[in-house]
Amino acid sequence: MSDIKRPTTAAAWVEADRLHLLHPQHHPSEQQNPIIWSRGEGATLYDTEGRAYLDGLSGMWNVHLGHGRWELVEAASRQLSTLAFATAYAGATHEPAIRLAERLKKIAPAGIESFFFTTSGSEATDTSIRTARWFWRAQGKPAKTKIIAREWSYHGSTIGAASATGVDEFSEGFGPRLPGFLHIPSPYPYRFDGDGEAAADLLEAAILREGPETVAAFIAEPVQGGGGGVIVPPDGYFERIREICDSHDVLFIADEVITGFGRTGKWFALEHWGIAPDIVQFAKGITSGYVPLGGIGISARIKDVLDGAESDRRWWHGFTASAHPVACAVALETLRIIDEERLVERAAGQGGALLGRLREALGWHPHVGEVRGLGLLAGVELVADRRTRARFAPEFRIASKLRAELLARGLYTRIVNDTICLAPPLTTTDTDLSRIADIVIDAVETVCRPTK
Ligand code: PLP
Repeated sequence: MSDIKRPTTAAAWVEADRLHLLHPQHHPSEQQNPIIWSRGEGATLYDTEGRAYLDGLSGMWNVHLGHGRWELVEAASRQLSTLAFATAYAGATHEPAIRLAERLKKIAPAGIESFFFTTSGSEATDTSIRTARWFWRAQGKPAKTKIIAREWSYHGSTIGAASATGVDEFSEGFGPRLPGFLHIPSPYPYRFDGDGEAAADLLEAAILREGPETVAAFIAEPVQGGGGGVIVPPDGYFERIREICDSHDVLFIADEVITGFGRTGKWFALEHWGIAPDIVQFAKGITSGYVPLGGIGISARIKDVLDGAESDRRWWHGFTASAHPVACAVALETLRIIDEERLVERAAGQGGALLGRLREALGWHPHVGEVRGLGLLAGVELVADRRTRARFAPEFRIASKLRAELLARGLYTRIVNDTICLAPPLTTTDTDLSRIADIVIDAVETVCRPTK
């Protein structure tokens, strides 16, 4: 018997948390009075005090179907009781993984042929990077190893993914990024002086500067989320990126970890611009967050090279939990429900309405720089001065003030780069969505009272 006593009061839970639990991006000051989640239902989360919060970010941009979906619980339970785990290594396979790969082929961006599964988005990023390098080496071009990414990007927290991430805080303190990663400016329409093509041309300049014979891949989120605060690129950007990658023999990796599975009103966001990537990576919404699963999809061109490799030069890559049967079963059920409830189309319609409402109420506000979004993914960027686009001084603590006001009104979400990010479940009711908008509007008006 364990001699650890189970805490009985909220204060005791907080103390146990403080002593023994390290949180993602840990700092103890943020855990002084944490919310202790207890359960969820639909688009609402409840804490142990019984308070309700609308889940404005679908957990961590991942709970696409909302909380408490019994179908997902049953899918996991069925798989757990039939075959909880079996490996897909070394000449073995299983039905949930095969079915999921087949299903993904039907919805993946054009040209994507075959799939590999991880447990997280970070592992998906590392898998893409290793695959791009392996591909060029297998083609007799071992010098093509550099990875070009963008400022304000977030690709994860493993050392490869953090090296690709374009926000320095994620690397500072851990020593230098891995060699061979470089970053070009983001096509951030609100802050980039130029159109989509001009922003994309910065990729060509970087490839030519480095030497195309040294560059393996360009990696980009279609909409920059966790590092940038919902940055939607201008039309023309990804179209030109594709041309540049083609003309310099550079692979294009689309990081659809946030934007995949209907979030932007398409199955995958690149569909908005009709672009085919060489590698697409995904995670989060594929299982609606109920169990962890990520992965990558590769083009037929890359698959052919994988299939044609000598046995001792194979793609030596894999994880114990790759193609975990329970995660694959939950993913299949998630995709079935997204399809059946027409949630991709719904995200497009609801997202348009949410954006319209926020623009109408806040588009004029002297401290709102921009209201932007794509599908059910929206951002409200706050600025000190709308005219100059100057950011708030750090002493103003805009993000923590806003967070407190949002929580007090019953909305949980994240503020990234002074931008209130919204990505509620794709199943959120119109009433809840309208409450989310009301709360955001009210909180902004309270924290950012216009000064005369
Ligand atoms: N890529 C993108 C675009 C992400 O938003 C994230 C996580 O937020 C990741 C990769 C890393 O995923 P994970 O946290 O599952 O490792």
